[in-house]
Amino acid sequence: MALKHEDLISQLTLEEKVSLLSGKDFWQTMNIDHINLPSAFLSDGPSGLRKQAAAADNLGLNPSVPATCFPSSATTANSWNPEMAYLMGKVIGEEAASHQVSLLLGPGLNMKRNPMCGRNFEYFAEDPYLAGKMAGQYVAGVQSNGIGSCVKHFAANNQETKRMATDSVIDERALREIYLTAFEIAIKEGNAKAVMSSYNKLNGTYTNENQHLLVDILRNEWGYDGVIVTDWGGENDRCEGLKATNELEMPSTAGETNIDVYNAVMEGKLEEHYIDEAIDRLMDFVLEVAANLKDKEPGFDKEAHHAAALEVARETVVLLKNDNNILPLKKGTKVALIGDFADKPRYQGAGSSIVNPLKVETALECSKEEEFGLEVVGYEPGFKRFGKKSKGLIKKANKLAEQADVAVLFLGLDEFSESEGLDRKTLAIPQNQLDLVAELSKGKTPIVVVLSAGSPIELPFVDNVAAVLHGYLGGEAGARATLEVLSGKVNPSGKLSETLPVSYEDCPSKEFFGDGEADFVEYRESVFIGYRYYLTAGVPCKYPFGYGLSYTTFEYSDLKVGEKGVSFKIKNTGAVAGKEVAQMYIGLKDSMVFRPAHELKGFSKVYLEPGEEKEVEIPFDEYSFRYFNVASNKWEVEKGDYDIYVGPSSAELPLTAVYHQDGTEAPAPYDKEKLATYFSGNVGHVEKDEFTALIGRELVSERVYVKKNRMVVTPLTSVSDMRHAKGWFGRFFERAIRHVIKLFPHIGQRALANTMTMGIYYTPLRNMSRASGGMISWPELQGLITMFNGHFWKGLGEFLGAGKAKKKAKKAKEKKLKEEAKAQKESEEAK
Ligand code: BGC
Repeated sequence: MALKHEDLISQLTLEEKVSLLSGKDFWQTMNIDHINLPSAFLSDGPSGLRKQAAAADNLGLNPSVPATCFPSSATTANSWNPEMAYLMGKVIGEEAASHQVSLLLGPGLNMKRNPMCGRNFEYFAEDPYLAGKMAGQYVAGVQSNGIGSCVKHFAANNQETKRMATDSVIDERALREIYLTAFEIAIKEGNAKAVMSSYNKLNGTYTNENQHLLVDILRNEWGYDGVIVTDWGGENDRCEGLKATNELEMPSTAGETNIDVYNAVMEGKLEEHYIDEAIDRLMDFVLEVAANLKDKEPGFDKEAHHAAALEVARETVVLLKNDNNILPLKKGTKVALIGDFADKPRYQGAGSSIVNPLKVETALECSKEEEFGLEVVGYEPGFKRFGKKSKGLIKKANKLAEQADVAVLFLGLDEFSESEGLDRKTLAIPQNQLDLVAELSKGKTPIVVVLSAGSPIELPFVDNVAAVLHGYLGGEAGARATLEVLSGKVNPSGKLSETLPVSYEDCPSKEFFGDGEADFVEYRESVFIGYRYYLTAGVPCKYPFGYGLSYTTFEYSDLKVGEKGVSFKIKNTGAVAGKEVAQMYIGLKDSMVFRPAHELKGFSKVYLEPGEEKEVEIPFDEYSFRYFNVASNKWEVEKGDYDIYVGPSSAELPLTAVYHQDGTEAPAPYDKEKLATYFSGNVGHVEKDEFTALIGRELVSERVYVKKNRMVVTPLTSVSDMRHAKGWFGRFFERAIRHVIKLFPHIGQRALANTMTMGIYYTPLRNMSRASGGMISWPELQGLITMFNGHFWKGLGEFLGAGKAKKKAKKAKEKKLKEEAKAQKESEEAK
């Protein structure tokens, strides 16, 4: 393969080449001065820039530079407006460029397979089409600043529990149609310059070594020629990674894996062209962005960026209920503000996406502003944030509510219950909040609930309150956006980008999710995630995908379908102007493949003045009719009479038409009898045999048991799995860490407990060495593993011996460097 940067690459030694493909430190790539190759600086997104000034970590622990905090992706997706995603990307990218950041690590594009994934707030939707369209524009926005945007985590990282030590087992069709399509759309439409591989295995192989995922699909099928970077500490075998075209290991492993790659080339186990090609792609990115960043000035317009965060937040607020049009609140309404979140808003998620915000607005402060026309009679917290019960607070809240025309009640999840690195344990909000609503709803004052949560929560109280607004996690200006909607300054136009189920029991993936013991996450529900399941199986949900009310009403009519797509009319039949998200779904009954009843294939957000009517067009595209055929191993189109639906939500589709589409005549890929549950769509429980028939293989664990419940520990064993270690020391190690984590919340260290769970407990032992910056060498780790496997003294000897060897090697290296420096000095003096 001809190399674009052959002239530069040919000037490098093998050692230099290898070093380029692993981080220089926590956030930078390696520079090589004699060929004028600078470092690239990588920083987190996606809801704002997280550039760490000094101490670095990937867990959101140390502070980062102040930056605008936008709504979380889950929230932005509720706008159903790709222009908002573009605006957000553009502004975040501008801040990144002003700090000389070359690559923004976002957006996150994993599908919301299960509502309890701890990182759902960071992902867009339960539907790949909506997620892909939003992400594509976000990427384009970021990259309009001359820097790169990195879509992550590729792919099928849909739970946080043991995220580095589980294998996502997915049938090829669900993988393609559900888990990869969002990436495909975003990469193609946004022209993303980087992709981050995920931590997990996918169907038996780590994603960063996965030839099928990275080479067959990403590079060959999608024609992607950008950079692939590992997730932080997600590298397993670098040679395998390089063969799979994964060029960049992040962060630095203190040169340890460089030695593996170097030796593999010298021993003829890894052909050098893999390295050259990887460097070529990486250089292309680094040089292009460095040239673009050369003239960027530091600083940005903070007020304008805050205003942009507000503009996005405004479009994301979802009105779930509005009895007797209690909202918007009329001018002069006496309002009691109740709930801790009114004063201390919950506006972003936790983990590597955490932004150090410029200016966080609160509902309490905003509500006092004249422009909203409200008479605030007082504020009461009503409950303790972390669930502790307090009858006194409820009493005070009740008293305050009695003095008001309306009680606006701010409920939701606290910052420690939704975080990267661990999954949620319940969909319920804390009981003390439920007690508060129950008590207040006994009174006469009507209640308006404002929710803050980045992922689904159960809403058992909905029947007892007059209205519900869902603000999700609205970023630093989210509280103001909520006030604008409450007061009617803004007409809500957000729609849910995920289903809100009645209870967790209803979720199709509940049997195979977040299991800390399992080696596999079995995606038994196949393509039926989110609304694809609820609407096909007829399982009722609280609020469906695509749902959201407005202060006005819209009427749909006149659907026409042609070869190019659909057209129809929408009329604003109410008294105020508003925006409506019209959605197009497509379904095929009696298909030869099992299918959801209907799937989102297009949408359009339309602004209408009162009484105004517009004709709306939604085109068909390459995603409208395709399905992945596992027999032909290709995307195909089935010939048939398709049902085309248009309407305001996935569950309310007033316009329908039938459209005949010719097909590609591929063979029927499934045995209907063997896959009867899938053909029924009722996948709440699928037997193992049917799942293995679908994926076409048995599941075999790589764990080696020496006796019942005692297994051999390897570098890939997670700390959590060491509860089954062969040796007592291994079991003791696991228990000690588990107890420390349990203890922390009791001494007010909730964040630290979460961080340890994510960064240590669910992490493979491998990372004790790889992520320690050289503190624990690979041979030292081997010693520890010998100890964990029941040979305590032998292992201790190995550990101490390796430590000595490390010190000796370090001294020799220092000596060599000193001598080299001395020689250079002498030669310069001689000149
Ligand atoms: C996260 C990534 C993030 C990286 C760097 C990892 O723990 O999974 O999303 O970009 O850290 O902070």
